Amino acid sequence: GFKCGIVGLPNVGKSTLFNALTQTAAAQAANYPFCTIEPNVGEVAVPDPRLDELARHGKSAQIIPTRLTFVDIAGLVRGASKGEGLGNQFLANIREVDAIAHVVRCFEDDDVTHVEGKIDPVADIETIETELMLADLDSLEKRVVALEKKAKGGDKDSKELLDLMMRALVLLREGKPARLVERRPEEEKAFAGLGLLSSKPVLYVCNVEEGSAATGNSASAKVAQRAKEEGERSVVISAKIESEIAVLPLDERKDYLDAVGLTEPGLDRLIREGYALLGLITYFTVGPKETRAWTITAGTKAPAAAGVIHTDFEKGFIRAETIAYADFVAHGGEAGAREAGKLRLEGKDYVVADGDVMHFRFAN
Ligand code: GDP
Repeated sequence: GFKCGIVGLPNVGKSTLFNALTQTAAAQAANYPFCTIEPNVGEVAVPDPRLDELARHGKSAQIIPTRLTFVDIAGLVRGASKGEGLGNQFLANIREVDAIAHVVRCFEDDDVTHVEGKIDPVADIETIETELMLADLDSLEKRVVALEKKAKGGDKDSKELLDLMMRALVLLREGKPARLVERRPEEEKAFAGLGLLSSKPVLYVCNVEEGSAATGNSASAKVAQRAKEEGERSVVISAKIESEIAVLPLDERKDYLDAVGLTEPGLDRLIREGYALLGLITYFTVGPKETRAWTITAGTKAPAAAGVIHTDFEKGFIRAETIAYADFVAHGGEAGAREAGKLRLEGKDYVVADGDVMHFRFAN
């Protein structure tokens, strides 16, 4: 599955947030199977209101949302790239995630020590980014030496990889993250293979005091501005509020949310943003037994999408009967959509769209 790592300096609220996520997951566990939780790994359901609509029209007995994994990666401090704190362990953990939720402290509280002495989330972001970039510089510089020899020997693949690595090195030496490296689509795979920490997509999570949960504060505004300039995403959340919501019975949440001025838990937004950050989209299967959401990467073609359900579906793929979400709902379900001519027969080159309701035909 896809993994989103939660990182940040100490005392910014990572554990509080992670615990809220896993408590929410635990509360969901009764309804949703396959919820496994390890100490620092939590799987959560991706909230999607479309599921309820589809299940209503499809008269499904059960709803099964798709899931996203969060990993709490503690131990990042200034100097991690030089082995400070949990140093290498921490960096190895980041290598294994697909995207980063970077929690920054935007709340004032004299009782909670700030490791850098003051509330300055943009400076904190730079501290962490610097550690990631230093680690990348170090690993690239080591690898480039060996590769240069191979490339000089005339190996074409080595030359191309070296070229890609040199472009990353140039950026990193300017203090810019590797995710900004300009690359051709056919280089994406090799680029991902480099495993550079600063190449992972980042979402900034601004942990604000309770009173600013709905509006954000001046510190989170600075982060939002920076994110905008860098073409990144940011969300405002109050870890404290989320930790309180997470332990409330579901039927009491609405009143609590109203009281703090929120329309939904911040965690729901965080999960959805994490999902989007990973470039993931959802397609659905709808039947009397269940309405279910399935996760694919944007751009996935029908056979590979079918393979997410079962490898046999991919191997024996014949075609996909497809109804767009809006058509399914507008015509009151599959039968109505079919009558209205909204059911499409799609072949193996069809690129699945977010919200597609699919039925796969396959041969054994
Ligand atoms: P971590 O080191 O980043 O995992 O941070 P923790 O989640 O352990 O939080 C560090 C301290 O900050 C704890 O005492 C939390 O109770 C406190 N804390 C976390 N979030 C908030 C918040 O939104 N407001 C306030 N006032 N304290 C918070």
